[in-house]
Amino acid sequence: MIAMRWPDGKVLCPRCGSAKVAWLEKAKLYYCGEKHPKQKFSLKVGTILEDSPIGLDKWFPAMWLLSNCKNGVSSYELSRDLGVTQKTAWFMLHRIRAAMKSKSLRKLGSTGGPVEVDECFVGGTPKFMHAKRRMSLGYGIGGRTVKVPVMGMLDRDAREVRTKVIPNVQRETLMNEILRQVQGAGTVYTDQHQGYDPLKAQAFIHETVNHLDTYVRGEVHTQGIENFWSLLKRTLKGTYVAVEPFHLDAYADEQCFRYNNRATKDNPLDDADRFMLAVSQIAGKRLTYAELTGKVGETAV
Ligand SMILES: [Zn+2]
Repeated sequence: MIAMRWPDGKVLCPRCGSAKVAWLEKAKLYYCGEKHPKQKFSLKVGTILEDSPIGLDKWFPAMWLLSNCKNGVSSYELSRDLGVTQKTAWFMLHRIRAAMKSKSLRKLGSTGGPVEVDECFVGGTPKFMHAKRRMSLGYGIGGRTVKVPVMGMLDRDAREVRTKVIPNVQRETLMNEILRQVQGAGTVYTDQHQGYDPLKAQAFIHETVNHLDTYVRGEVHTQGIENFWSLLKRTLKGTYVAVEPFHLDAYADEQCFRYNNRATKDNPLDDADRFMLAVSQIAGKRLTYAELTGKVGETAV
């Protein structure tokens, strides 16, 4: 982890950037030679692990599992595996998901290849939720299912999927996301949802797929993003069961991480590579329990 945070091996103070850093053997902490508060710091300061009393001996296996288990890891499984409480495991998993989120500013389709765009509805009935809480989240009494729309885009050349939970599937919402994510004048494949009609007017090359047609028009299809949806749905159904809409983006990001870093012929990544990638992304990202739950004044230990 030291090598990941400071690739040239020189440890820098996370507070002031100084290189005048000494290692305090007894305290197992670093010490910054510049005068400022909190001169002592650990490797975790400034990462998603800051302030966590959980050791790297537990964080690393958790990152390994979440980077590699095809269907995700539930907080119950992780709690048993690591010997921590379920609440702590849940918080750890969410911090790791934050690290997995791609921060790429590259536009999809920037290499000239097609981008598949599609929406799907995910969600279910939370079975084990208190009735009051269920009502407050809008699930109703009669076990009504709440479906949340998620938009997905696959850059076929780059083999990269991005997802986003969207408030509705109206024209303006869909178009805004495409304009934000996809290279202008690029090729976009969608189904015949009317929300995508303005694509041509926006100078995109737009081809549509008729789901009722049995034949495939060569390159024109959205099967890549549809495969991704079935992976996401399997994970949500099998492992996470009752995901609140508020957290759905994080679960989708986690699935994107595994999908975008899966082994292919030209890119033979293995479990260790995916783990290292997740570790490399943790520096500088930090979520608090309050940010995750909207509850202030609670800790995860
Ligand atoms: Zn310093």
